[in-house]
Amino acid sequence: MARDYYGILGVGRNASDQEIKRAYRKLARELHPDVNPDADAQEKFRDVSTAYEVLSDPEKRRIVDMGGDPMESAGAGGGFSGAGFGGLGDVFEAFFGGMGAGGGGPRRPRGRVQPGADSLLRTRLSLAECAVGVTKHLTVDTAVLCDLCQGAGTNGSSKPVRCETCGGAGEVQTVQRSFLGQVMTSRPCPTCRGTGETIPDPCRKCGGDGRVRSRREIAAPIPAGVANGMRVRLAAQGEIGPGGGPAGDLYVEIVEQPHDTFVRDGDDLHCTIRVPMVDAALGTTVVIDTILDGPTELSIPAGTQPGEVSVLRGHGMPKLRSSARGDLVAHLDIVVPTKLDNKQSELLRKYKSTRNGERTEVLSAQSEHNSGLFARLRASFSGR
Ligand SMILES: [Zn+2]
Ligand SMILES: [Zn+2]
Repeated sequence: MARDYYGILGVGRNASDQEIKRAYRKLARELHPDVNPDADAQEKFRDVSTAYEVLSDPEKRRIVDMGGDPMESAGAGGGFSGAGFGGLGDVFEAFFGGMGAGGGGPRRPRGRVQPGADSLLRTRLSLAECAVGVTKHLTVDTAVLCDLCQGAGTNGSSKPVRCETCGGAGEVQTVQRSFLGQVMTSRPCPTCRGTGETIPDPCRKCGGDGRVRSRREIAAPIPAGVANGMRVRLAAQGEIGPGGGPAGDLYVEIVEQPHDTFVRDGDDLHCTIRVPMVDAALGTTVVIDTILDGPTELSIPAGTQPGEVSVLRGHGMPKLRSSARGDLVAHLDIVVPTKLDNKQSELLRKYKSTRNGERTEVLSAQSEHNSGLFARLRASFSGR
């Protein structure tokens, strides 16, 4: 049964949006769980909220005005386009629930007006776009309301009639023999496609579906901090449903493009900096062209060792829906020169002669320098 959403809010069927909002606010103030601890009031509050949700949404309100209930079928059309109805569920019902007497009783036809399917679109974003957020203008092929019949699917004032194939039930039964004996399966009626109705004189533009295919431009606001694979939901930007039912949602999936310098790990950005041996020994500074903060100086202290990292705290990616940011982690790749001319070799020999006692040697396993290496080896062998 379609619920009387107008009655719940105590407004007339011609009530304006303003009147609906006023009625809702008044009732919500009286019934809100914070002011009214009654169990009864809680239930009423829920009903009132649902009624407002329905009547404040033009698409849902239209379904109510056509005699339907947008909330009852809300779950039925879930999933993305192509998620059929019927299918395996019906077979299982026949095996486990529907056999023997009774079963679940006859199913109601699903009606011609149905919520639209959700749609999924992918869009490529540079790392910079992910970092700052962007409005993406996308083209989407989708189903929109038929402007000739306004979703009714009929031609002029003609009316839908009960389907003769299924008698209005929306489904037909077939009996199949299997190793389990006879199995009754039901499937959507092929004539009315499960709606229980046919349109003898369908709309000339949409053929009775109440919607037509169209190409739409959509401005999708992508928030700062999104990452590869995330989906941004645009409510009611998906397909209009059969019979002009409320639109599904449109999901925009982010496909993040690789960056020239940075590799992203969650909210952190990693880059590698090549540091010549002498710069590592004497210390130096390098300018990193960061994505959000422009050129930023990183100091590499004197005595930097191979494999060390230098972290610019808070210079990574913004966290989604937060003002916090990840870090920028610079991996310092210290490079030993491979080709030395005579003069350079001479200089290094001179340098070496000033470093008394410094020589190439095998370390003691207990030495502080070695502890890192052995800890790593132990960790890698302990797993076997
Ligand atoms: Zn039409
Ligand atoms: Zn039928």
